[in-house]
Amino acid sequence: MSKPIYVTQPYLPPLEDFMPYLEEIWVNKILTNGGPFHQQLERALCEYLGVKHISLFTNGTIALVTALQALRIAGEVITTPYSFVATAHSLLWNGIKPVFVDVDPNTLNLDPAKIEAAITPHTTAIMPVHCYGQPCDVEAIQRIADNYNLRIIYDAAHAFGVRDKTGSVLNHGDLSVLSFHATKVFNTFEGGAIICPDAKTKQRIDHLKNFGFVDEVTVVAPGINGKMSEINAAFGVLQLKHIDDALARRKEIDSAYRKQLNSLEGIRCLNEADGIKANYSYFPVLVQPDFPLSRDNLYQKLKDQGIYARRYFYPLISDFPMYRSMPSAQRDNLPVAADAASKVLCLPIYPALAVLDQQRVIDILRRV
Ligand SMILES: *Cc1c(COP(=O)(O)O)cnc(C)c1O
Repeated sequence: MSKPIYVTQPYLPPLEDFMPYLEEIWVNKILTNGGPFHQQLERALCEYLGVKHISLFTNGTIALVTALQALRIAGEVITTPYSFVATAHSLLWNGIKPVFVDVDPNTLNLDPAKIEAAITPHTTAIMPVHCYGQPCDVEAIQRIADNYNLRIIYDAAHAFGVRDKTGSVLNHGDLSVLSFHATKVFNTFEGGAIICPDAKTKQRIDHLKNFGFVDEVTVVAPGINGKMSEINAAFGVLQLKHIDDALARRKEIDSAYRKQLNSLEGIRCLNEADGIKANYSYFPVLVQPDFPLSRDNLYQKLKDQGIYARRYFYPLISDFPMYRSMPSAQRDNLPVAADAASKVLCLPIYPALAVLDQQRVIDILRRV
C-alpha cells in the first residue's frame, strides 16, 4: 500500500538550515521572555503581513483568551458554530456566554443578516471566524458593531497572508488572532499571535501574556503565561523565508482540484472570493445528496486507501456537551451550519503534496 496522505502536512525547511538559528540560541542563552528571535519575528511578520502591531503567543487559543481579556469583554459574545472548538472555548475560559448565529451558505462565515436578532443588552462583542481563510463580510459586521457599540475580535486562525482590496484582512475589527499550529499555513510548531492596531493595545497584550508584569516589581493584571519561546520564534523567522513558495504550491493544488472536481456531479467546491489574495489553507468540498456516496462513506472510502481527509467542521461546536443546552445552539437556529457540517470534507492540500498523490485523491472521487 502507498504511504498515507494526510489532510495536511507541516512545511519543514531543510534541517540544516535551522542549525545556525539553534547555535545562536545556544550562544545567547536567551530561551524566552521576548528575546531577539521573538522581536525579529514580530518585526518580520508586521512587514510580511502588512499590519501595524503584532504580539506573539505560545498558541492561538491562549491568544484568543488574552484578546478577550485585553478588551475586557464580558457578558455575551456572538460567534459561529462552524469553527474549531477553540473559538467558543476561549469565551468560556473568560466566563463569557457564547451566542451562536448561523452562517452564510456561500462562505460558511457568520451571516451578518442574522446577527442583529441575536443581540441582547448583555452583548458586548462579535467573534467571527474567517473560515478556511475566506474573509468574512467585514463591512457588514463593522456596521452592526458600530450601531450597537460592540467590539469585534476576529478568529483569523485560517487567514494568514490573506488580503482584500484594503490590504491585510487582519486589519479589520478591533483585534485579529492567528494560529501558528503545525497544521496551519504558517507554523512555528505551536504558536499564535494577536494583531492590534495601536501601540497602547499591544503593550497591554504584552503585559497580559507575561503574568501582567510591567517591570520587576509591578503587576497590573492577572495575566497568563502566553509567551512564544525563542526556538519557536527562530523557526518562524526561517519558515517565513519559504512562505511565498509554499503559498504558490498550494495555489496550484487548489487549481487542480477545481479544474477536475468543479464539473463532478454531487461535489460542490466553495466559491473563490472575488478580489481576494487567498492562502489556499484548506480545500473543502460539500458532498451533495446526488453524489453516489454519502459524505461519511466517501470519508471512509478514502481512509481505506490511506487518504485521511477531514470533516472540518463536524460536529458543530454547538453540538458539544458544554454548549448544546444553550438556546442558540439548537438545530433550528443553525440550519445552514448544520447542513454544511453534514456535507463537508476537507481534501489534502499542503506544499509537499505530490502531483500523483493529488491525482489519486481526485481519481477516487471521480470513479465513485
Ligand atoms: C487552529 C485553530 C485555533 C486554535 O489555534 P491553536 O494554535 O491550535 O491553539 C483556533 N481557531 C481556529 C478556527 C483554528 O483553526
